[in-house]
Amino acid sequence: MTLDAVVVGAGPNGLSAAVTLARAGLHVTVLERADEIGGGTRTAELTRPGVLHDICSAAHPFAASSPVLSGLPLHEFGLRWRYAEIDVAHPLDDGTAALLWRSLDATAEGLGRDGDRWRRMFGPLLRSFDDVADDALGPLLRVPSHPLAMAKLGVRSVLPAMAAARLFRTEAARALFVGFAAHSWRPLREPMSSALGAMLVAATHRHGWPVAEGGSIAITRALAGLLESLGGTIVTGTSVTRLADLPKARVTLFDTSPGAVADILGDRIPVRRARGYRKYRYGPAAYKLDLAVRDGIPWTATDVRRAGAIHIGGTAADIAAAESQTNRGIMPDRPFLLVGQQYLADPGRSAGDVHPIWIYAHVPHGYRGDATETVLAQVERYAPGFRDRIVASSVMTPGDFEAYNPNYVGGDIVGGNTSFRQLMGRPVFAADPYAVGVPGMFLCSASTPPGAGTHGMCGYHAATRALRYLGK
Ligand SMILES: Cc1cc2nc3c(=O)[nH]c(=O)nc-3n(C[C@H](O)[C@H](O)[C@H](O)COP(=O)(O)OP(=O)(O)OC[C@H]3O[C@@H](n4cnc5c(N)ncnc54)[C@H](O)[C@@H]3O)c2cc1C
Repeated sequence: MTLDAVVVGAGPNGLSAAVTLARAGLHVTVLERADEIGGGTRTAELTRPGVLHDICSAAHPFAASSPVLSGLPLHEFGLRWRYAEIDVAHPLDDGTAALLWRSLDATAEGLGRDGDRWRRMFGPLLRSFDDVADDALGPLLRVPSHPLAMAKLGVRSVLPAMAAARLFRTEAARALFVGFAAHSWRPLREPMSSALGAMLVAATHRHGWPVAEGGSIAITRALAGLLESLGGTIVTGTSVTRLADLPKARVTLFDTSPGAVADILGDRIPVRRARGYRKYRYGPAAYKLDLAVRDGIPWTATDVRRAGAIHIGGTAADIAAAESQTNRGIMPDRPFLLVGQQYLADPGRSAGDVHPIWIYAHVPHGYRGDATETVLAQVERYAPGFRDRIVASSVMTPGDFEAYNPNYVGGDIVGGNTSFRQLMGRPVFAADPYAVGVPGMFLCSASTPPGAGTHGMCGYHAATRALRYLGK
């Protein structure tokens, strides 16, 4: 029997692809290797009963701004966004903190001498953000539908992040911007390293940094619920590693790494494409700590106690130095960290006064050392006494990430290096970045445009190609 559509992998992109196909009337079967669906969008009691930790993705400015996810009736399947009072904080060594509020004005006010500059830099991008998101959350190698809006992003993107930071006069504004730019996992003195930071700041001003009530798994459950309501089927505990594991289908989509597609399809995939997929490059890795912390983190800068997410790494120059090291395979003494206090927006994740704290550090690709002490020391630097409040912990090393999900090659959690080359030609330079070179087969994971994040756009774009292939 030939099925309509098979999707390999039930991450947010696999599920978004499946929903797109099912809405077009196809019967879709999703095959997931893990016993639970969700990939990078799952939640579990990792430390203590009743304390809910997001295993991977936590904050969702790109889900809220995703033209695809925001257009689906996910609220009917239980998805509710929750917001912390302050979206992102960046503590500094003098005991103060730079704050990014959803409001551009409130942020500018807090930045004092740099307030007007912040407004001038991000105001125009914020005003055209929805048009920019339409274009930037798709393949970059195409004619944009909103050229003026994209030009505004363009002028803010071409500079190295450290050069863009020098447009500000205060260390607070510089560090605040560079903390966002560090989400690109790139050396921050390279051209274009401002791009993701500028988009993320604008997305935060437009949509905030929402978390899903009950944990990121709520996004997965809502997508799966919608899919099942459309007649789709999800099978867990089923790994596809070779052609024989794939049921015959009119279209097949892979929410996997490009290398996995080459391995699964063997000699059915053109040699040149298989070579391109195997040469696909990966970047630095994540090292994660999930902590159960009694009474939360005692941040010196008290505003940070009200922030949903915190960037840690010191000054702009400190962060650039650390990111340069991780990109060269060196473990920094003071790595860049992202800390999540999701329970502030969603108190149901705590057990009484014991709260879940989500932290990951940028470390070198495939790092095998123990970075736990280094990570704890980075937090302690801005919150003395923090360690004494930890009542339970769980660690995920780069190796653990790859074992959890083979898409995280070497612990790279963003589906591949974000160099200029791989931003423009992701996963390979091709007229259709989703087609794998075998009729009816498409790659739909974060290794395709627009890249990492729980936004479902890679899945959506791949599914629209599949529908076009079917003449729909
Ligand atoms: C620690 C961490 C923090 C993050 N923080 C954020 C954040 O705050 N906000 C945000 O937007 N994003 C964040 N991300 C990134 C986000 O989680 C990913 O970009 C996103 O999940 C990618 O979705 P995907 O569907 O492409 O792949 P994945 O989520 O990786 O899902 C792929 C699925 O396919 C399955 N699979 C793979 N190979 C096979 C096979 N051969 N057979 C069957 N099944 C297979 C996997 O088991 C997995 O379930 C984070 C990621 C991590 C790890």
